Amino acid sequence: MNGSVDNPCDKTKRLLELRMDEGALAADEMADVESHLKSCKPCAQWQRQMQDIVAAARASAQFDVSEALTQRILSAVEREPSGKAASAAQVGSMLVLLAAGAGVFVVDSIESLSGLGSWCVGLAVMLVIQTIVAGGQAGNQAGG
Ligand SMILES: [Zn+2]
Repeated sequence: MNGSVDNPCDKTKRLLELRMDEGALAADEMADVESHLKSCKPCAQWQRQMQDIVAAARASAQFDVSEALTQRILSAVEREPSGKAASAAQVGSMLVLLAAGAGVFVVDSIESLSGLGSWCVGLAVMLVIQTIVAGGQAGNQAGG
């Protein structure tokens, strides 16, 4: 008796994934999901795990320092009011600052164990997320 298409657990998980992608669900869909989560422990647990993963992904995004720095420097160059094409010297000094900032960040991380530790945690979180996402995609393909 397997292969049932209208499995309420599958439907609930699909809707929850949709909500994570699009940020919201229709009111009646949301009501279905919430009433199912109240009566189905595995689905409630699954939802909590997904929320943990999303929170971890958002937290680990903060480790990407270099991109944020690059964007700040680029916008600073663009905002430069001097009409004369932002002089090469200005851009060059910005790049030197960027390199120095990155260097200081790395050295500081190596010197302070807590910095290195948090960097490793971020890396581990990313690996775990990749594994879970890859496993989920394989499962979806096999089940479809
Ligand atoms: Zn369920």
